[in-house]
Order: sequence, then C-alpha cells, then structure tokens
Amino acid sequence: MEKDCIFCKIANGEIPASTVYEDDMFRVILDMSPATKGHALILPKKHMADIFEMDSETAEKAFVLAAKVAKGMKAALNCDGLNIVQNNGEVAGQTVFHFHMHIIPRYEGDGQNINWVPGTSEAEERERVAQQIRSGLN
Ligand code: AMP
Ligand code: ZN
Repeated sequence: MEKDCIFCKIANGEIPASTVYEDDMFRVILDMSPATKGHALILPKKHMADIFEMDSETAEKAFVLAAKVAKGMKAALNCDGLNIVQNNGEVAGQTVFHFHMHIIPRYEGDGQNINWVPGTSEAEERERVAQQIRSGLN
C-alpha cells in the first residue's frame, strides 16, 4: 500500500466507498462524480500508478473483471451501451495516480460525449509508426 494514496485506502477498505464487487485482488466502486448512472471504477488492491507499472496477472484479471461488471450492468441497469476508459498520465487526463478502469454504462440520450478528435494519416506513415511500436514490444 502506498502512503497517501486515496485509491489504496479505498481498495483496501480504509476509506468507505459504494462497493459493487470485491475479491482478493480488486475492489469495484462507484465513481463519486459519475458520468452516467452506474459509472464504476475497477481498483486493484495492489498499488500501481498506471498501466506502465502493471503486471500481466493484474492486467488479465482486470479485463476479465471488466467484462463481468459490464454484463452485470447490462442486466441490472439495462444500459444501451458502455464505455471502458483508462487514463495514464496527466497528459491523458489521469487525476488519481493509482491504476483504475472506468466502466461507464451508456443510455440513449444521456448527453455524454466520451470521444477524441479523429486525425488523418497516410499508409506510409502508419507503416513507419507500426514498425516503431513493434520495435518497442516484447
Ligand atoms: P481519472 O481522471 O481517470 O484519474 O479518474 C479519477 C476518477 O476518480 C474521477 O472520475 C473521480 O470522480 C474519481 N474519484 C476521485 N476520488 C474519488 C473517491 N474518493 N471516491 C470515488 N471516486 C473518486
Ligand atoms: Zn495506491
């Protein structure tokens, strides 16, 4: 547990939050400023600031849990769709530096706009960038 990390405290039950799900590795809570009804956060109990610090076991289990929560929301809230959002770094909009996944149920006419501005690219440039990223993998 990281000292002074609010999500460490919430995930490990030191600070109360509305809990949707809990197991030995994760707690899923409701976001205090929800984008829509049911907006939840998947928090690993182990501290990791972001995806760059994440181990494979936590990564695998986090997405399995995301699918479980999404299906539960569909059944219980009757949402029409759902966004998964996961911010890493200040530049990407992260404000709490303990890894978390936003699970945001969407409803027809909910007025939310969770999106980006599409850019443009040439095939040649995409190939160059793909090669650049491939060289960083393994
Ligand atoms: P992000 O911008 O991806 O780092 O998201 C942080 C999210 O945490 C925001 O949506 C906040 O509303 C939410 N949040 C911050 N503090 C709390 C808290 N104590 N309980 C529940 N949600 C929180
Ligand atoms: Zn933490």
